[in-house]
Amino acid sequence: MSLCVLFAAGEDSFAEYQAPLLAGFDENGLAVRLVTDAPAAEVDYIIYAPSRPLQDFPPFTRCKAVLSLWAGVERIVGNPTLTQPLARMVDPALTRGMVEYVCGHVLRYHLGMDAHIRALPGDWEPAEPPLAPERKVAILGLGELGSACARALADFGFDVAGWSARPKGLAGITCHHGAEGLEATLRHAEILVTLLPQTRDTDCIVNARTLALLPRGARIINPGRGGLIDDAALLAALESGQIGGATLDVFRVEPLPADHPFWADPRVTVTPHIAATTRAASAARVIVANIARSARGEPLLHVVNRARGY
Ligand code: NAP
Repeated sequence: MSLCVLFAAGEDSFAEYQAPLLAGFDENGLAVRLVTDAPAAEVDYIIYAPSRPLQDFPPFTRCKAVLSLWAGVERIVGNPTLTQPLARMVDPALTRGMVEYVCGHVLRYHLGMDAHIRALPGDWEPAEPPLAPERKVAILGLGELGSACARALADFGFDVAGWSARPKGLAGITCHHGAEGLEATLRHAEILVTLLPQTRDTDCIVNARTLALLPRGARIINPGRGGLIDDAALLAALESGQIGGATLDVFRVEPLPADHPFWADPRVTVTPHIAATTRAASAARVIVANIARSARGEPLLHVVNRARGY
């Protein structure tokens, strides 16, 4: 009997995902009816994007799992109608994209590239940057993405510290955890990277109090979620010189409204939520592998913990 897989992540995305999904199901010997519409009671699996209209899950009585194309789950994790397991996107291509984004912006700040990119004719002020081992970088969040970025930065030679909810051991990284580990992590952050999920506990974690714990002139790179940052506190810290610059990829409201002060502040670089995109070819392999596991009766990978919110 064939499985009914509902692609509920948008008609436009379906054009990209249909071929790699069908090829993957075929390679895995799975007979699948891949559809964008079907009677709810016939659906075995839902491929999902939190930005899409589907919010009411009880009619999907035989659905065994909802598989999100997004890594961040803050828009769906609290949905009380969703009782099926929710798997989020963990994908090597997504991770690689994030590592490249984070390393690129860390190196930009580390090397002081902006001074040269923005130099005017006649500006000739050689300044020797420290080498990577003399540069302290800290990462809030040591999950799939944060730990990959931490490893890449440590491989580069940076002095890297990281912070997670639970204790963690990563070779070459100074790992802190829990509320008591936050201050030590922040004090280590000449460059701070925020790769936490958006939850009740992480909302506005970058605020006036925590910004004050960073070394003066620290730079911030936020590819996590906009809600991690208290925007007004960051703008005040930029104004006072406590923070030397910020690169922000994610915002409370997206697209970032044209009149938001971040756009006008020369110390802020805005990128339009492009740090790590879900690419159809690799994401389809992840989804197919997870459905195949479930169909064989094996536990799903990357299941979201509802209590923790990520
Ligand atoms: P993940 O694997 O779930 O890792 C989350 C990390 O945050 C874990 O280390 C976790 O600690 C830590 N954490 C969560 N709550 C915490 C708290 N209250 N205190 C301390 N540490 C806490 O997530 P991921 O795959 O790395 O993704 C991280 C986030 O990146 C996503 O949630 C998403 O918002 C964002 N993202 C952005 C883009 C983009 O293009 N900008 C793309 C993909 C993802 P434990 O390890 O102890 O659980």
